[in-house]
Amino acid sequence: MKNDLPKFLQAISFAAQKHSRQKRKGADGQPYINHVLEVANLLANVGKIEDYDVLIAAVLHDTIEDTETTKREITKLFGATVSQYVLEVTDNKSLPKAKRKELQIKHAPHLSDGAKYIKLADKISNIRDVTENPPADWSDKRRLEYIDWGEKVINGLRGVNSNLEQCFDETVREAREQLEQL
Ligand code: NDP
Ligand code: ZN
Repeated sequence: MKNDLPKFLQAISFAAQKHSRQKRKGADGQPYINHVLEVANLLANVGKIEDYDVLIAAVLHDTIEDTETTKREITKLFGATVSQYVLEVTDNKSLPKAKRKELQIKHAPHLSDGAKYIKLADKISNIRDVTENPPADWSDKRRLEYIDWGEKVINGLRGVNSNLEQCFDETVREAREQLEQL
């Protein structure tokens, strides 16, 4: 879908309300909405993505996983394509964390292109957080393990957007450089 600025703004408002009481895990406690806006910003300005279904899904990408939002609610407000992208990047929270992480690696090659773009921007944002604003209780080892795992997920979906992939590689390189200095 092209040029649906009103729906995009509606999605931002919807996500801001859904995440209103949530903060990121970093010691600086940023509002959760900062992360989903960073993901949408990366898609538009690094990935040069113009498809509003992808940009809207980026803004909504953590609503089903991390808030009370349902697929039905997203389909009704934003359409089936958006809700499909959001579902594709939603982990099954009934599974143990280690299994969820394994499944992200396994599923990455089979995602739609739209979901691959969102996954790339999400991992860029999370690896930036792991580097600059990590959760207070994470050891350096755990931070490095997160970067290694993120790289495994992304290696399974390469070849869709060279700008985002280059940005991801640069983010990983800088993250390792910074963490090795510690
Ligand atoms: P989590 O999955 O619990 O946290 C990472 C996720 O939290 C990110 O993917 C991101 O997801 C979200 N997030 C929110 N704020 C931040 C932030 N500031 N920085 C980074 N991520 C943030 O952690 P792990 O990835 O470590 O997964 C748990 C796994 O770690 C388990 O498999 C467990 O066995 C293992 N573990 C390892 C330890 C170690 O020392 N090596 C210790 C304990 C557990 P989103 O985009 O959805 O917001
Ligand atoms: Zn996310």
